[in-house]
Amino acid sequence: MIKSFLDARNLILDNTLQLEAESVPLVDLVGRILTRDFHARWDMPRWDNSEMDGFAVNALSCRHFVQLLVAGYIPAGSSAEGFSVRPGTAVRIMTGAPIPAGCDAVVPIENTEFDGERVTIKKAVKHGDYIRFRGSDISADEVMISTGSVLRPAEINLLASFSLESIPVFRRPRVAILSTGDELVAPGEIPAAGQIIDGNSWSLAAAVKEIGATPVLLGIAQDNDESLGEKIALGLKADVLITSAGVSTGDRDLVREALENAGVKPVFWKVSMKPGGPTAFGLQQGKPVFSLPGNPVSSMIGFEELVRPALLKMMGYQEVLRPLNKARVRGVLANESGKTRFLRVRVEKTATGLVAKSAGDQNTGILSTMIRANAIAILAAEQTRFSHDDEVDVQLLGEVERPYDQS
Ligand code: AMP
Ligand code: MG
Repeated sequence: MIKSFLDARNLILDNTLQLEAESVPLVDLVGRILTRDFHARWDMPRWDNSEMDGFAVNALSCRHFVQLLVAGYIPAGSSAEGFSVRPGTAVRIMTGAPIPAGCDAVVPIENTEFDGERVTIKKAVKHGDYIRFRGSDISADEVMISTGSVLRPAEINLLASFSLESIPVFRRPRVAILSTGDELVAPGEIPAAGQIIDGNSWSLAAAVKEIGATPVLLGIAQDNDESLGEKIALGLKADVLITSAGVSTGDRDLVREALENAGVKPVFWKVSMKPGGPTAFGLQQGKPVFSLPGNPVSSMIGFEELVRPALLKMMGYQEVLRPLNKARVRGVLANESGKTRFLRVRVEKTATGLVAKSAGDQNTGILSTMIRANAIAILAAEQTRFSHDDEVDVQLLGEVERPYDQS
């Protein structure tokens, strides 16, 4: 059951569902995603109010150097009830305070002279000056934030401004992470001959955290049915299970067998991609289970290309794939695998656009190339060679900064 890369990704996304809604308080909303359209509860502003500290006037009774009798004071937070601007008078008013009856303009304090009783108007005034009219920002019932929007500080300000204290957003998945292999020991231990320190748990946990999901670290399972079975059962209590290693040929497919014994129905168990070929995907009562290869680079690329989009979909994101950018190749990028090839590249911004060059040795065993890379170039199975200046598709892993000396 070897799937093309695109078929594999589509199968995964088709079989992954959004999680349910949960109500989250304002302080924890940033980065969360709305589960339904949000309508304005009332007009914003709710009433006509002053944009400046100054004097509420009627524009018709204002000429240069006219003097008006100041007949009251409306600070922010007070009602305008009982105040009115009659011919020849003004009302002192603070920013945000409601506009009193008879007023159709505010004169900012810096355009006046005030002796404590009378105010002299020193600049021309016209109807509507410095008034924020009711509903001029937002009208009641307007859809302000639509389903699937990622909440940023601005949206959160708006929700708070409509007096909401908590909002329904998509729940974020708990993602169980299991490393497998008799050779593995945890970080902090000194490895004996032949032992390898488990790095995958930590890169996967970091990648899960980076998108705002919650990693659940299950530790290391030994290469036997009992150890695997026990850890897998624990992992299936989370919303998603990711295992690494024990799925390549030669491993007796121990992980696959253990998953099937735990009730995981395989959807596919190999993908025509490099690195990441021995990636398997299955479902346990609708719950997604990913088996990534053991090789650190392969597990990271497998997560990036196949797991991350699924987690983003569960979290309610509408865009789940990193954008593809065009970059001009420096040197040569080649694909001799006959599979979709993911190359670790270094992308830089130049005045004429992005350029990409290999980040080094592309052997899947080489971790340092992953460290130097800031992007992944994707070469389709049938595209074999990109020469200097050819355009290649790249996915940026985070932002690519501009060099300091270019303006
Ligand atoms: P396997 O798929 O079990 O054959 O593992 C492939 C390679 O990845 C082997 O060299 C393993 O030692 C290595 N490996 C497996 N799991 C991990 C891990 N959690 N961290 C680092 N390397 C690993
Ligand atoms: Mg192994």
